[in-house]
Formats: sequence, C-alpha cells, structure tokens
Amino acid sequence: MPMIIVSGFPTSGKSTRARQLYQYLEERIAAATTTGTTPKYRLHLISDQSLSIHRSVYDLSSVPAHVRSANASEKDARATIYGAVKRVLSDKDIVILDGLNYIKGWRYQLHCEAKAMRTPSCILQIGCSKDKSKEVNDARLRRQAEQLSAAGTDLAAAADDGGGGAATDPEAPYEPANWENLVFRYEEPNPMTRWDSPLFPVIWEDDADQARKVFEQLWDAIAGEGRKIIKPNQATEQRSRDAGGDYLYTLDRETQDVVKRILDQQSDEGGDEISISRGDSGAEALVVELPAGKKVGLPQLQRLRRAYLALNRGGIGLESVKNMGPPQIRESFVGYLNDAFEKDS
Ligand code: ADP
Ligand code: MG
Repeated sequence: MPMIIVSGFPTSGKSTRARQLYQYLEERIAAATTTGTTPKYRLHLISDQSLSIHRSVYDLSSVPAHVRSANASEKDARATIYGAVKRVLSDKDIVILDGLNYIKGWRYQLHCEAKAMRTPSCILQIGCSKDKSKEVNDARLRRQAEQLSAAGTDLAAAADDGGGGAATDPEAPYEPANWENLVFRYEEPNPMTRWDSPLFPVIWEDDADQARKVFEQLWDAIAGEGRKIIKPNQATEQRSRDAGGDYLYTLDRETQDVVKRILDQQSDEGGDEISISRGDSGAEALVVELPAGKKVGLPQLQRLRRAYLALNRGGIGLESVKNMGPPQIRESFVGYLNDAFEKDS
C-alpha cells in the first residue's frame, strides 16, 4: 500500500485534491497496464465520508476541558479509519487517505504501518489560508441555514442527524466552534521528520497543470522506478492504548538508559556505532549509528527522547494495541534515533 496521507485545515479543499489525485493515479495505473494483464496497483480512496464518520466527532467545543483527554468519539473514528486502512494494506494497493490528519502522532502511526508493510508513505499537504478555508465553511453554513429555512425545518431538528445523508455529506459545514478548534489544534506536517516526508504541497491557487506536476512527482516517489526500498524496523511496534503507570515508567527508564549509553560511549569525532544491549540476555545488541563529524549532545538526545516519548505514550486510540516490554522499547527507540540521525545527515 503506498499510502498518501492528505492533510490540511477543515474546508481547505482536501477532498477536491484527493479526487483529482485519484483520477490522475487511475490514468497512470491504466497507462502502465498492458492489455490482458492485471494492473500493478489497486486504488482506494478512504475518507470520513466513505466511512460515515460525522464531522461532530472532532467537536470538543462543547466538552469541558477536564474530559477532553477522554475524547472518545474522535479516538473511535481514528480506530475505524485505521482498521479500514489496514484492511487494504499491501504493496499493491495505493491508499489515498482523505482527511484532516492533523495529529502528528497519528501521521507517525500511519507511516509506521506503511513501513511495516515495506511500502512507502507520503504527505499531500493542502495549503490554504485560514481566511480562505473559513470563507468556504461560512458559505456552507449560510447555505445550510437557507436550505433549512426553505424547508421549514428548524435548525435543532436538522442538526440531530437521524442517520440521514446530511451527517456525512461532504458538503456539510463544520459548526463554527468546531472549525476554529480544529484549526487551532492543527499540527502542521514537518517534512524534516521521517513520517511527514516526502511531502508534496498543493495550494488553493494551483491550477490543474501545477497540480498535475505535483501528482507526477508523487507518483515517482511512491510507484516510480526510483522508488526507495522500504525497510521495516521495530519502531513500528504498536503503542498501548491504556498505557498504565508501569509502562510509562519503563518507557522513561529504558530510553534514559539508551541516552546514557550513547553519551558514555561516543568519541569526540562523532560517527560512532554505539552498541546497546537489548536488555534480554543472549540477544544480539542494537546499534546506534551516530552522525559523522560531530558529537551528539545531551540536549539533542533529550529532545529526541522527549519526541519519542510523546509519540509512544499511547492515547492515539488504535484498535490493535500491545504494550512494549523493555527490549522492544530499546529496539524501537534505537530505530527512532537512527531514523532521526539519518534524516539529519
Ligand atoms: P475539504 O475536503 O477540505 O473540506 P473540499 O474539497 O470539500 O474541502 O472543498 C471545499 C469547497 O471548496 C468545495 O466547494 C470545492 O469545490 C471548493 N474548492 C476546493 N479546492 C478548491 C480550489 N483549489 N479552488 C477553488 N475552489 C476549491
Ligand atoms: Mg473533505
């Protein structure tokens, strides 16, 4: 499953680009298929609408602050999306995931899932100013209000979606507070990180030609000749949903220990291969490859460690969950560091 993660503000034109990309890829796949043979790729477009996920699952505006962490509906939605992605997961399936995909840890998880399947992932970033996206939502709100008053229905009755089509209508607006909050919470993809790269940006103003150019680059990256070989690593371990105190303590302790061993063993020249025991006897040691030519300092290591902890603390709300034991944590953290250093160099 080469995976294409669409990301952008609410009502910024994500679904529009996702459909354009779908068409483009359909053509490319057809062009690459000679008559009488089966196409090399199957194509899937997964979105909140295709999974009947209502926009209100993202709405925290009516929830008091102290229960926000228990934001169950959005977690359930993510679990549904994750399940749908996993069902079609293979190297022969191209998945376009049309959605907000605004949480960094969530994109990381999807990237890891692809990596575990030895298939590439990338980001299609929809660039659209806050003002422009808000205009779109406001226009949709106005249209909804007009339709409702024309139909003689009152707002409350209509908002109470009785399983009808309106709830998952791709043209349905977000409630204003929900919209504002999603923009506020949006964690912009950072192409310097492994999980947000390669990143292909299209902006609102891009015409069909420009969009095609971007799609072409995207195709080359995920399906072209020069496509990178994807090696799965153990950083793809699932994190626990209900991470208990013990798990968090172990996570902290094991990553501290890895940091300490690196600092103890590295030389002044940099570029060392630091051997780190897995913690279970007999097993082959792990190797951290430090960047050449410079020493890695404690602040940098602590920064990476904190980023890793944030991603592995749990709470993203996935279906298949499993606690990592100390050896898996060490292996996964070493994989994470190697990725970060490789990216860096
Ligand atoms: P999202 O999926 O992010 O909510 P949509 O793709 O549904 O956004 O687009 C919202 C509205 O903006 C639609 O009416 C669509 O036709 C329009 N739109 C989207 N992208 C563009 C664009 N690049 N230029 C002009 N109009 C656009
Ligand atoms: Mg959409």
